[in-house]
Formats: sequence, structure tokens, C-alpha cells
Amino acid sequence: MSDEPEGERREKRPDLSAPGRVKGLSSVSNPIIKDIRALGAKKGRDETGLFIAEGLKLVLDAIDTGWDMKTLVVAKSQLHNPLLEKAAARAVALGADLVEASEKVLGAITRRDNPQSAIGVFKQRTVSLDRLDFGKDGVVVALDRVRDPGNLGTILRTIDAVGAKGVILIGDCVDPFSLETVRATMGSIFAVPIARASEGQFLGWRTKFRGLVAGTHMAGTVDYRTPDYAGRPLILLMGNEQSGLSEPLAKACEQLLRIPQAGKADSLNLAIATGVMLFEARRKALAL
Ligand code: SAM
Repeated sequence: MSDEPEGERREKRPDLSAPGRVKGLSSVSNPIIKDIRALGAKKGRDETGLFIAEGLKLVLDAIDTGWDMKTLVVAKSQLHNPLLEKAAARAVALGADLVEASEKVLGAITRRDNPQSAIGVFKQRTVSLDRLDFGKDGVVVALDRVRDPGNLGTILRTIDAVGAKGVILIGDCVDPFSLETVRATMGSIFAVPIARASEGQFLGWRTKFRGLVAGTHMAGTVDYRTPDYAGRPLILLMGNEQSGLSEPLAKACEQLLRIPQAGKADSLNLAIATGVMLFEARRKALAL
């Protein structure tokens, strides 16, 4: 008899012959694969409320943290990998569809030559502004019309790394659930609460916020190292890549901060500026 707990034992070996659970697919024109491929486009994601995340570790982490997985696509040729088998077992145990596919199909879904061995299809998750939990002294980043998926993904990853509490996407932002953004988050898409708001909604909600609202601005007059960020909640407003913070948002800030620069560069990249700010704001909370 095995020493393993009941749940572990139950999940370990998937019934790969269970009807409706496993499909050996090698054609990119198969309707199931077509539906999953459609999630590569915003229209497909908006219509279904689903998104794709690639990578075995990432899929396992997402399952561990309670994300709702609808389908798991695995590389048939890799099913000897015990971790992949574990992911497959967990998918089946959770009631997700398990699809065995050729590498060509996995590559077509993620538009990659060297696809990962596992692709999860998950239900998107966002929170309302009122559900953001700042705690006593949490930091939330508010992004004004962020347009670049790589920037947004990198910012989500950095928010996760510094232990900040979430992100607010203000106005017309790039989709946080696009393939490129999710890829750039390196798994942090599953760790960072995401709220969306129009500029008007944000400004209305901001009036009730008890904490510091600080924006970064090329015309800021306060050195970003000056404020004492510790001990109170912080909303850190960051501007659009091209045009910076809108005027109404800049006006809503108690302080406009500037990161000093030397040299000829006009400004820092948005994700870099956000990283610099976050490490300063969380300096006291982060210690080795
Ligand atoms: N041309 C834009 C402007 O004038 O605001 C540049 C925008 S910059 C690429 C994107 C955002 O990063 C800015 O709106 C600001 O929030 C932040 N940022 C970049 N460099 C900064 C700096 N040196 N000081 C303060 N914020 C900065």
C-alpha cells in the first residue's frame, strides 16, 4: 500500500483513456485547436473571457493558486515527463479538458517554433477597484493607457517581485491577457490582482483613497527618493509611453516625482521607471 495521502494518489495517474478527456490531435484545423488559437486574438479573448498561458511550471503554479483552467494542451511526445503527467492528472482531476497534441499544433497555438510542452487555457480574472487590498502600507501601480505588452508584462512581474498589491489599468490599455503580456509576466499574471477603470472611474474612486497618490512625471519637481513611502498605502501613477500622464491624472496626484537623469535620453522606458520607483517605495519592506 502507498504511504501517499489519498488526494495525491488519486491525482497521480490520469486515466488517459477517459472518454472526452484526451484527444490525440495533430491537425491545426481541428475545431478544438481553432477555438484555442482564436484566443491569440483580443476578439477571441473578449468573447470567451479566456486566455492562454504557456509552460509546465506556470500551469502547475496556476493550478496551485486556484485559477480556473478550462483546457490543458500537452505535447504528446513529452508525456513521459513525470511533471507533465502530473499536470495532466491535475487537469483531469479538476474537470478540465485534456488535449494531447503534436508539437506542430502547440507551436501553431502559441506562434512559436519551439513551443512549451504544456499550454493552459484559463478563465480571465480581474478585481474591482474596491476589492484591491492595500493592507496597512501596500503599493498599487496605476498605469495610464499602457500600450506595450512587453512593458505591461514586465511591470506585472516587477509588482509581483517587490510584493506590491496590484495594478490598475486606466483607460485604453493593452490587454493584460494577450499572449505577449502573459509571456512577459513569466507567471506573475497569476499572482498580481488586476483592476481596470476608465479615467473617470479612477478619479472618482481616488477621492475616497486614504494614502499617498504619487505620479511620475517628466516635469515632476520632487526627487523620487525624497518622500517617505513607508507606513501608508501608496498609489503610484505611471504615464503612457508616448504622452506621459494625462493632465487630469497628473492633477489628481499629491506629488509629481522625477527620477533624475544624466545623458541624452529624454526619458526612461516605462517598465524601467516603474521598477526604479517600486524598489524605492518598497525599500524598507524589502531586506535580505
Ligand atoms: N514623452 C513622454 C513624457 O513626456 O512623459 C515620456 C513618457 S515615459 C517613456 C513613460 C513614463 O515613464 C512617464 O510618463 C513617467 O511616468 C515615467 N518616467 C520615465 N522616465 C521618468 C523620469 N526620469 N522621471 C519620472 N518619470 C519617468
